[in-house]
Amino acid sequence: MRKLHVAIIDLVTKGPTRALYARIMHANLASIMPQVLGVWCEEEGHDVTFVCYTGFENLVEELPEDIDLVFIGAFTQAAQLAYALSNMLQSKGVVTALGGPHARCYPQDAQKYFDYVLGFTDKETIRDLLNDCSKHRPTGVCLSANQQPTALPGVRERWKFIEQTLQKAPLIKIVPMLGSIGCPYTCSFCIDSVVPYQPLDFDVMKEDLRFLLSKFKRPRVGWHDPNFGVRFNDYMEAIEEAVPPDSIDFIAESTLSLLSEPHLKRLKRNGFKAMLPGIESWYDMGNKSKTGKKTGLDKVKHISEHLRTVMRYIPYVQANFVFGLDVDEGQEPFELTKKFLDMTPGAFPAYSMLTAFGQAAPLNLEYQRANRVLPFPFHFLNNNHAMNVKPKNYSWPEFYDHLIDVSKHSFSWGAIFRRYKAVKPALPRWMNVLRAVSSEGFGRIKYHTEIRHRLDTDPQFLPYFEQETTELPQFYLDRIRKDMGSLWEWLPEGALYHDPNAYLKSEKEKSLTPLSIDVDTKPQPVEELDFVGAIPAPDLA
Ligand code: SF4
Repeated sequence: MRKLHVAIIDLVTKGPTRALYARIMHANLASIMPQVLGVWCEEEGHDVTFVCYTGFENLVEELPEDIDLVFIGAFTQAAQLAYALSNMLQSKGVVTALGGPHARCYPQDAQKYFDYVLGFTDKETIRDLLNDCSKHRPTGVCLSANQQPTALPGVRERWKFIEQTLQKAPLIKIVPMLGSIGCPYTCSFCIDSVVPYQPLDFDVMKEDLRFLLSKFKRPRVGWHDPNFGVRFNDYMEAIEEAVPPDSIDFIAESTLSLLSEPHLKRLKRNGFKAMLPGIESWYDMGNKSKTGKKTGLDKVKHISEHLRTVMRYIPYVQANFVFGLDVDEGQEPFELTKKFLDMTPGAFPAYSMLTAFGQAAPLNLEYQRANRVLPFPFHFLNNNHAMNVKPKNYSWPEFYDHLIDVSKHSFSWGAIFRRYKAVKPALPRWMNVLRAVSSEGFGRIKYHTEIRHRLDTDPQFLPYFEQETTELPQFYLDRIRKDMGSLWEWLPEGALYHDPNAYLKSEKEKSLTPLSIDVDTKPQPVEELDFVGAIPAPDLA
């Protein structure tokens, strides 16, 4: 096999930026799989150029001229950027492959713009691709292993890629680690709900933690597990065996049901500084928050008390919510959220609008069957810039009114100050302020207000939202063009549009086809969290 020059691009964001929050945090949102691919390609004897794109690099200049093959890892919000990059590189003779959440959510669409589209990816899959490494146009090949890999290169093996990425993080450096894949819970909107839970090798984890102590005085580790601590005792024993108590700062996403007081004590002792539990809804998901059949105000009181207990042990807590779920109706879910924030001033609220990411989750089939999925360009599908599922119990103006109201309440100066006072350690309290005044708090209030205004005044808006037309309002077109910078010129024709019901169609075709061989149509893990990032997107553990 000839030696290839492989480029790997991890798209953390969807276009150039100069934002302060992006400068501080984007490099900490790097994904693990692109680094894993780098290790595997080198092990196969190829040269690797690795680029983590945080929005501050010039992608055209970063890539060497003599690349044979490029792997691009992207969440759905970066799909248009990925398509443009692929088009530009294909025009120079480069073979292109797409991996990451977008490839798993929208394989049929990605096939139009890449030679290879990767589903579950193990070393064997990559070896096959490297051996073939040929152009597949106009329709790319989907490759997928039967399941997620059972072992992955650890931090030590990925270090050269981690180190070069963290050089771009000026203040806070968070090393991405993974202890398990999949999740035993079955939240119907989540990509990880269909991936069987499986812990990775605890010996590799222990070795990695010791290795990090040789690299940093006090390392920070962000666990990318969809739901950290499912096998709580095994994890804690591994950490306790590997490193002295409270010698590493850990950040993790976990279900509230795992955060009992004895567990919290142990987490604190072992250095856990930030937890991101998912509340999602005041009317659903009782199993993962351990609130059972409690709903509404009862659930607010119960969870508020629980989170106040969590915050006695863990200084930084982000509470995740999803708005627009079918169980929600009227003003109450938003009012309850406001009440919860008043009762729990230290928790940082992270809001997602209900989004159906292609074939990420079985629930999306139901939305597609009911013709409720809108064809918003991928660029806006980051849980906040567009909601692509028509709400069941709200008109669009009503929904946005409530969303703006709860956002203004959450990021008022009063709420910011209360949050600041409720959190004592300097880093988390200032991180809360930064997030509130940046694109996440103030920025989203401004953006949602603009959308709400246009629903009343822009004649293109409401017909598009109501699915009376598929003609994209000029507002969105202008915004993508601006966001993509110079790569807009390379966006292939038609790449702004996708079939919002492709998943349903592929399922129907599958039921008519006796056997399919190499086309992967399995769902994938979601995308990222605003804070810890690479935790697959609207990951909502
Ligand atoms: S949302 Fe969280 S708890 Fe639910 S399946 Fe996904 S990872 Fe598991």
